[in-house]
Amino acid sequence: MSLVFPRPNTSVIGKKDKRLMAEVNASPLKHFVTAKKKINGIFEQLGAYIKESSAFLEETYSNEELDPITTEEQVAEVRGYLSKVAGIGEVLSRRHMKVVFFGRTSNGKSSVINAMLWDKVLPSGIGHTTNCFLRVEGTDGNEAFLLTEGSDERKSVKTVNQLAHALHQDEDLDAGSLVCVMWPKAKCALLRDDLVLVDSPGIDVTTELDSWIDKFCLDADVFVLVANSESTLMQTEKSFFHKVNERLSSPNIFILNNRWDASASEPEYMEEVRRQHMDRCSSFLVDELRVVDRAQASDRIFFVSAKEVLQARVQKAQGMPEAGGALAEGFQARMFEFQNFERRFEECISQSAVKTKFEQHTMRAKQISEALRLIMDSVHIAAQEQRIHCLEMREEREDRLEFIDKQLDLLTLDCKSKIKKITEEVEKQVSNAMAEEIRRLAVLVDDYHMDFHPSQVVLKVYKNELHRHIEDGLGRNMSERCSSAITAALQTTQTEMIEGLKPLLPIGIREQVDKIVPRQCFALSYDLNCDKLCSDFQEDISFHFSLGWTMLVNRFLGPKNTRRALMGYNDQVPRPLAITPVSTSMPPFPQGSMTQEELMVSMVTGLASLTSRTSMGIIVVGGVVWKAVGWRLIALSVGLYGLLYVYERLTWTTRAKERTFKRQFVDYASEKLQLIVSYTGSNCSHQVQQELASTFSQLCQQVDVTRQQLEDEIRDLNSKIQQLDSLQSKAKLLRNKAGWLDSELNMFTQQYLQQGR
Ligand code: GDP
Repeated sequence: MSLVFPRPNTSVIGKKDKRLMAEVNASPLKHFVTAKKKINGIFEQLGAYIKESSAFLEETYSNEELDPITTEEQVAEVRGYLSKVAGIGEVLSRRHMKVVFFGRTSNGKSSVINAMLWDKVLPSGIGHTTNCFLRVEGTDGNEAFLLTEGSDERKSVKTVNQLAHALHQDEDLDAGSLVCVMWPKAKCALLRDDLVLVDSPGIDVTTELDSWIDKFCLDADVFVLVANSESTLMQTEKSFFHKVNERLSSPNIFILNNRWDASASEPEYMEEVRRQHMDRCSSFLVDELRVVDRAQASDRIFFVSAKEVLQARVQKAQGMPEAGGALAEGFQARMFEFQNFERRFEECISQSAVKTKFEQHTMRAKQISEALRLIMDSVHIAAQEQRIHCLEMREEREDRLEFIDKQLDLLTLDCKSKIKKITEEVEKQVSNAMAEEIRRLAVLVDDYHMDFHPSQVVLKVYKNELHRHIEDGLGRNMSERCSSAITAALQTTQTEMIEGLKPLLPIGIREQVDKIVPRQCFALSYDLNCDKLCSDFQEDISFHFSLGWTMLVNRFLGPKNTRRALMGYNDQVPRPLAITPVSTSMPPFPQGSMTQEELMVSMVTGLASLTSRTSMGIIVVGGVVWKAVGWRLIALSVGLYGLLYVYERLTWTTRAKERTFKRQFVDYASEKLQLIVSYTGSNCSHQVQQELASTFSQLCQQVDVTRQQLEDEIRDLNSKIQQLDSLQSKAKLLRNKAGWLDSELNMFTQQYLQQGR
């Protein structure tokens, strides 16, 4: 049996002593009080934690940027826990220990309660005033009051007599109804410790035991049977507890054999009576009800005198000696036994209440925290997996970007050299083809058939058409010679470019690259511009007798010397690039700048320098012949000369003029076209270069699209990774919090629920 300290009266000792005593003599009820405080604290933290988790999950669930990390079910599940835990917290905060006193009328139930409360709280000694249950509960105010079932009205009661009167007066009270006696906590230590005491009408006065059990006993932590030690346990008392035992598993039952002071009058039988009572009571608890084993039974059965204890305590509270001067025999022993009962009762009720009131909720809280831990774990894992996936994707994109940049640099160099090569080839090819065409220009001009007439108007039209004919013909011939080869080379280069750049293009575009880079419509334009080129052409189709003065001089001296001889033209002046036989832009004769002698000298010099020519030979021979044959021959010669003149004059037809015109034109145009050979070549190569450069730049544009896409993707991935990072660490934090709450609950279980198991 443990050492029992008498409970001090708090109202008569000093503050300091009170604290000291409280520490030394901490009530076992504190076990429940601290457990309640602890579990309430845990539930508060659990509530806050679920709130935080729920907000986190909802935010995560509604994040559309990321792939689903949490499910709708998880969000709903956690939201459900929120209200559940709030509900449990509410219930827990109202939890108290409840003891119900049963026994026959006048056994002293009210006296026992009053003795425990150190005050006359309930009326006693007048038989049970009503058939009501009286529930004594602590209130924070200083005024005691009554609350009846179904009414919020507070009925003030200042004295126990007033209470008795009030209960007696209240006609609305049905049998078996509940009246709450709200007693100031300040006046009573037990009530401060969340203990609720319920006094019942005598079980001998009712037949409604079943409904009593349903209404008042199902949440009771301890039952105290107040028996009368002057008589034996009654069947009514026993059968009531049998019923309780049927409804509740292992109820905690104490038996108080009250009125033990009466036994003091017959001390010789006291031990025997006590043994008999003890045997019967323990047999009832151990054998009949099977709620305790025999070893524990003695801690459940007590022999007390509530009347004495109450009296002593009330007197002590009033500052008088405990026994009030009339110390009955064995009082101290009974007092100790009562205190012992109180200690055992307090230990039992607090242990039991902690278990029955908190165990289930602790388990529920553990389940919830475990469920949340699992949810947070799954969120953490999902976020981690997604983050790893994003990191891999980012790495892949960065690698591709780097590859594209490097590859593009290489391909650019390659394409440049290809373009250079092909342009050089094109230039060469076009120049060669043009040179060839110029050589064959006479054929082209010969193919030109249009009515020729020497009149200026017809000639103008003739020339224009001829220009067009040459332009078309040359263009056609050139393109026959080069175009197909150039186009083929161009297309090959384009294909090579596309194939080279294809891996760098956006995937969707790769298949339809031909649509983006059209390759079929390229045609070289030679742009010869004959019209302008030959606009200065001036034909000479006037009649020139082949043995005429000019022609002869021309023949002897060549056109250059003829002009010099005939016109004194200063040949030192640089000749324009294109000269016509008779230039309209020729400067006027330098009048009087050359004398007759000078002309003769020039002629003779010219003649002398041309001795090798056959015509000169003929004239010399003619002179010799003239000496030999005389005037007849001269006459014949003159005749022949005349005839020749007539002949030439007659054959100088339009056709001959056309031939001459064409020959002159071919000479002129050949010379002119020769000048633009290299220009045309470089023009064509420029076109090819332009075409290829444009193809390349179009492809580069598409590569830029790929790069842009990759850069956008990397940016998106970066933001995703950042979000997932914080999400992951938050999930981890919440998972750890759940673990922490779980360990708190484990500690609570260890400290409060597993004790005594
Ligand atoms: P209840 O009807 O069970 O609540 O019994 P009460 O507390 O009203 O007590 C009935 C009567 O028994 C009162 O007159 C009390 O004074 C008296 N009484 C209660 N306990 C004891 C006790 O331990 N010894 C003696 N001698 N009388 C007691």
